[in-house]
Amino acid sequence: MSLIPKSHPRAKSLYIRERLVHGFDDGLVAKEGLMAHGRGEAFDYLLGEKTSKYAQNAIHAAAFLLATASYPVISVNGNVAALCPREIVKLAGIVNAKIEINLFYANEKRKKNIVHVLRKAGAKEILGVDSKSSKRILGLDSARRIVDKNGIYKADVVLVPLEDGDRTKALKKAGKKVITFDLNPLSRTAKTADITIVDNVVRAINRLILECKSKKIQKTPFNNKKNLAACVLEIKKNLSRRLPHA
Ligand code: ATP
Ligand code: MG
Repeated sequence: MSLIPKSHPRAKSLYIRERLVHGFDDGLVAKEGLMAHGRGEAFDYLLGEKTSKYAQNAIHAAAFLLATASYPVISVNGNVAALCPREIVKLAGIVNAKIEINLFYANEKRKKNIVHVLRKAGAKEILGVDSKSSKRILGLDSARRIVDKNGIYKADVVLVPLEDGDRTKALKKAGKKVITFDLNPLSRTAKTADITIVDNVVRAINRLILECKSKKIQKTPFNNKKNLAACVLEIKKNLSRRLPHA
């Protein structure tokens, strides 16, 4: 039961925060994951906590890339497992993608808890858990260089929600097309990915599912750098609109 009253003006944001806290208590989310969420929350506040038309453009481009990929993989970390496990499984089913657990702060216990949550959400196959299938991607020091040979290693398109910049760069270097959800349009991940959906994963993933379900997704022109610049300008506009008047 939530202690946040529905009438609270910031209820939605607090509910999402609460999910992260439960995810932490349930051993899914790392302490650092809570802080990463805080950074995301701050950007969400500046973006007006809604899906902008630029995020929608990116969602459309992402749906097309996923639908036309030959071996798409969705990477899952603790925050994603806490926020939207059912949606991840649903999306994977629609675009026929593999699901791989990949943690920045590697921890076997946490990985097991994430497997449990994904299974409960309906996942049949979960990669990234069998050390016999481990492969290294080059150019990375962190534990996240370890990927599954039947998953990210083989993928042509990787969806990495809430990703770290170094790893996004390594995935690009390994020749993958990268799609990310990142509320910070200035992060290294946002700038390195092929398609950055600058929106809260909780909101945007449902829109992505809807787009992927549509039978006729059209390829439309999409330029990630231009789209990111538009997101930054959106923040600027929001800030001017909300400037306190003395
Ligand atoms: P980078 O490594 O890409 O430069 P960073 O080091 O600033 O980014 P990380 O902790 O590596 O940040 O990555 C987490 C990213 O996820 C942050 O940019 C944060 O804004 C974003 N984020 C956190 N929560 C959410 C969310 N619910 N939806 C979308 N993005 C989020
Ligand atoms: Mg980082």
